[in-house]
Amino acid sequence: MIVLGVESSCDETGLALYDTERGLLAHALYSQVAMHEQYGGVVPELASRDHIRRAIPLLQQVLSESGVVRQDIDAIAYTQGPGLAGALLVGASIACGLGLALDKPMLGVHHLEGHLLSPLLASQPPTFPFVALLVSGGHTQLMRVDGVGQYTLLGETLDDAAGEAFDKSAKLLGLGYPGGPAISRMAEFGDPSVYQLPRPMLHSKNLDFSFSGLKTAVLTLVKNHQTNICEQDKANIARAFVDALVEVLVAKCLAALKQTGLKRLVIAGGVGANQQLRTALNAAAEKRRFRVYYPELEFCTDNGAMIAFAGAMRLQINPEAAQRSYAFNVRPRWPLNELGI
Ligand code: ATP
Ligand code: MG
Ligand code: FE
Repeated sequence: MIVLGVESSCDETGLALYDTERGLLAHALYSQVAMHEQYGGVVPELASRDHIRRAIPLLQQVLSESGVVRQDIDAIAYTQGPGLAGALLVGASIACGLGLALDKPMLGVHHLEGHLLSPLLASQPPTFPFVALLVSGGHTQLMRVDGVGQYTLLGETLDDAAGEAFDKSAKLLGLGYPGGPAISRMAEFGDPSVYQLPRPMLHSKNLDFSFSGLKTAVLTLVKNHQTNICEQDKANIARAFVDALVEVLVAKCLAALKQTGLKRLVIAGGVGANQQLRTALNAAAEKRRFRVYYPELEFCTDNGAMIAFAGAMRLQINPEAAQRSYAFNVRPRWPLNELGI
């Protein structure tokens, strides 16, 4: 079964073809980052319009790269939510139009399920059950995953997401948008002994997180420097920020493994690309004897491959999930726990 995946929930247009027999056949991505950068964040209306411009050329690219002809596509999976309403509507209407024209069924996919299952696309995928840490631009959640659609929320952020904390702190340091990768690179040159930032909720008895205080602490440090903040100061602050955030994420992962008794930890979402986080988790895994799995770097942030894959997994479990009525609706807000099997 060949599934076409369409991702358009935020500022990346992603298309991909996944074959349940042969694996990922092709994927193509267009990031709108350069367009939104000048505004310091994503402008929803610009995002929607750009998805319209990019989707069809990307579709043609994945078809020609894979050698698949349109009629060979068995189903079309699109991101139904959560995300920006206008951006989601573009992907959904393209999926719907294609489905109607090609006479193929379609399926709405939950964006976070896409992230969550993306490590299964790697060459050495984890088996169920596992603990998953989803660390993206809009979410920070720890979950117990027993299978596709079997997600138990163990804890989540009470305010900012980890990716949001990266982006906001990077902005305070004048590092552009999205600043996660930039603040991470800068932290490499920082002296860890200069500043200590709080580790929010490190010792709370639950698996929840809170990152807004960390961003405020970065703001205070930046303000203390007034206008004369040098590159080394910025690097020291970046280092303090990354050290604090990573320590909390690792500690909560260890607590979740202990609570569930599981030995497999899966990381998903954009912050999963972070090198300091990966280094710290790998060290903890060796010491505590558990295994940690990551998506390929290119599949940490938004992409069409994870949507094609999640759609294919669902259709394999339940072929009835494919819909042939070409009325679509999107769900900009859609809690993962409302998603059944
Ligand atoms: P959601 O999936 O919750 O709706 P999103 O789709 O915007 O949010 P992702 O695409 O998964 O989120 O991830 C984007 C986030 O990942 C951004 O906040 C970005 O700064 C962060 N990020 C990407 N690479 C890195 C990195 N190397 N280090 C730290 N953060 C990173
Ligand atoms: Mg993005
Ligand atoms: Fe995402």
